[in-house]
Amino acid sequence: MGVLDGLKGFRLTFKQIAEPRVTKQYPEEKREKPPRFHGRHVLNRYEDGAEKCIGCELCAAVCPVRCIYVRGKDNPPDSPVSPGERYGFVYEINYLRCIHCDLCVEACPTEAITESKMFEFSFTNREDAIYTKKELLVDDNGMPRQLPWEDWREGEEQLTSAWMRATAPQGDPEFEGVVSWSGELGFGVRPPESGQNKDVEPAEVNHFSLREVAASKILRRYGGEVH
Ligand code: SF4
Ligand code: SF4
Repeated sequence: MGVLDGLKGFRLTFKQIAEPRVTKQYPEEKREKPPRFHGRHVLNRYEDGAEKCIGCELCAAVCPVRCIYVRGKDNPPDSPVSPGERYGFVYEINYLRCIHCDLCVEACPTEAITESKMFEFSFTNREDAIYTKKELLVDDNGMPRQLPWEDWREGEEQLTSAWMRATAPQGDPEFEGVVSWSGELGFGVRPPESGQNKDVEPAEVNHFSLREVAASKILRRYGGEVH
């Protein structure tokens, strides 16, 4: 093999030298995560600070690996914790089992449980792996609590409920741009994603109630009146 053949062998290597570098110096440098990335959960609050969880246990019922434990309790009439009749008195997620499927998030009727993008966490004992309500509930500013064994970087605390930017509930692109969720402490009403339905231009995306959209769809499909 001549020198020329040797250089030919390095052709691809030399070509790559001029290309932009894609390697990140992880963990010093983190790659941006996809918008709907499923990380560790947070329990959200309404804008007035009330807890969104109503202790209905639907998330626990739907969890395929049974890693959620919830107990509901009647709200004290003089100082209700949530706007519902009940609130989540006990809330635990066992992260040794969680597979981050997000079925709990889908099942929750009040958007109380959502996922952040935090996956850089590890434990040295089983106790730390079981997150209790104290750790899952967002703080007084609506931000996730940052635990000593979690690697949070600046700005990551803002990314706590990507699924709600999904704009096609039940896979229907007609819902693109329709806000069907309530405001969150620290964030207000989160804007929807766009770009799923090619017929909807971003400028046409309006914020109107899900009820109005649902009513028009029901009328179109089944006729009659919707009150
Ligand atoms: S993400 Fe899936 S596995 Fe994890 S707690 Fe929710 S339902 Fe259970
Ligand atoms: S997180 Fe949602 S689904 Fe789970 S108990 Fe609370 S309100 Fe119900």
